[in-house]
Amino acid sequence: MSEALRRERPIFRERPIGDRSLTRIVATLGPASSSLAVIDALIRAGVSIFRLNLSHGSLEQHGKTLAAIRSVEASTGLITAVLADLPGPKIRVGQAPVEGIDLRVGQLVRIAPGTVCVLGAEPLLACTYAGVVEDAAPGHRVLIDDGAIRLLVTDQRDGELLCTTMTGGTVRTGKGINLPDSRVRADPITARDLEGAAFAASQDIDFVGMSFVQDPVDIRRMRDVLASASAAAGRPGPPQIVAKIERPQAIERIGEIVLAADAIMVARGDLGVEMDLAKVPVLQKRVLATARAAGKPTIVATQMLQSMVDVPVPTRAEVSDVANAILDGCDAVMLSGETAVGKWPIVTVETMVRIAREAEAHLSETAAPTAPPERLVRERDRVAAIAHGASRAARDLGVVRVVAWSQTGVTALLLSRYGFSVPVTAASTDLLALRRTRILRGVEPILVETPPASFLDFISELERQLLDHALVKAGDLVLLVSGERFGVGSPSAMIALREIGDLSGGSGEGQGRPEG
Ligand code: ATP
Ligand code: MG
Ligand code: MG
Repeated sequence: MSEALRRERPIFRERPIGDRSLTRIVATLGPASSSLAVIDALIRAGVSIFRLNLSHGSLEQHGKTLAAIRSVEASTGLITAVLADLPGPKIRVGQAPVEGIDLRVGQLVRIAPGTVCVLGAEPLLACTYAGVVEDAAPGHRVLIDDGAIRLLVTDQRDGELLCTTMTGGTVRTGKGINLPDSRVRADPITARDLEGAAFAASQDIDFVGMSFVQDPVDIRRMRDVLASASAAAGRPGPPQIVAKIERPQAIERIGEIVLAADAIMVARGDLGVEMDLAKVPVLQKRVLATARAAGKPTIVATQMLQSMVDVPVPTRAEVSDVANAILDGCDAVMLSGETAVGKWPIVTVETMVRIAREAEAHLSETAAPTAPPERLVRERDRVAAIAHGASRAARDLGVVRVVAWSQTGVTALLLSRYGFSVPVTAASTDLLALRRTRILRGVEPILVETPPASFLDFISELERQLLDHALVKAGDLVLLVSGERFGVGSPSAMIALREIGDLSGGSGEGQGRPEG
């Protein structure tokens, strides 16, 4: 029996290791939330992944925030992941006068690559993308500032786009430009993205977000970039890739993109500008369903509790939006400005947890068993089949918790694809693998010092840990799953039922060590 497993770990102070909701919460850190105290409170409130938006702030600042996260993680023992979100090829307006450039409906505007805008009867908007004139064509829309200002291209002449203003407004420095009708040939991985990727891969960062993905080839390219940067830095492995779905081209190729990425984010901010806003709720459902069929985890992002940037109470519509994303089957919901620059970052997370718990209770009462991910059935994935069986058994028997040995995190991933209404404890000796499980709905990682010698050792040690952390009590039924083999001679995957406090299990079988 391994002594180290039994040792009391500094897992928690004010709350047990158990999470507050099954749904995972991603919170963007920014000026309102990068201090040790706020990060500590956010983790305790229920955040499992922090997002660093590399579009804003310097890499030096993000490095400091990362160090703060890691220090709170160590002091609380609450395993926390970090997502570095790369800027992607976002096109922006160049330098405009301080008062901005006013555009009225019907006004003619010129657009050309450059750094400084020029006022006049037909003002010239400078734009950060060199290929803007080649890529846009007559009939294409040019949307500025998240679609608040809308132009229509009428002609291309002398290295400029000629446009008519359809919806007016004031254009200011640095505002985003979207070309929803054009095939933008800007390199989808920019110099800044490469810099950000090198930063992420050389640090203790678990996920990298790829913005404006349109082709699975770009994801594979990013994977190579991350792998070499991670190896060069002597890191144990590269960050996983979260593909942000925010362009129509990504929707068209969603099946391939889902397969190429490790996880998917429905990035509704730019998606709602690049496509008809009215389509976004249905696109969200379609993207989540495609990811579910492929067995990939999902995040729903942008404006989920936006009004809480200013006030400590959400709107009815926001509460419904968060609940519906959960009912749509996402793994995680994300906060952006609410926690980055908002006045109420902690209250916002607490609010999200409360909404999540209600939606989860409804799901556990009403939802039909989650269909197995089609891809995993097709591939006859053994661990997925075991996970499927476990989900049925857990439902039929009313177990309070599933406990899995998941050294690499793969068993945890597969278990979490089956919509358990109880938490799944995932045990491993690999902290990095456990951090990656922080995106998975319902999975609660537990770090152990030494792998148990046999399945029976695993059972008794995990039971001790669960009792120590008050996660179970005597008489509770727990389902034990080992998706990864416990040494030579033991079955490659197993499920067992355990009544807590029933110590008659004995020992002596399967003396090998888990491989997974
Ligand atoms: P994206 O399209 O990647 O979501 P965004 O500009 O919408 O980019 P969010 O991450 O959604 O940015 O954050 C909302 C706002 O919070 C940003 O517009 C910015 O004003 C602020 N913000 C976020 N991160 C930081 C940071 N590290 N430093 C300063 N401000 C930040
Ligand atoms: Mg975006
Ligand atoms: Mg945003």
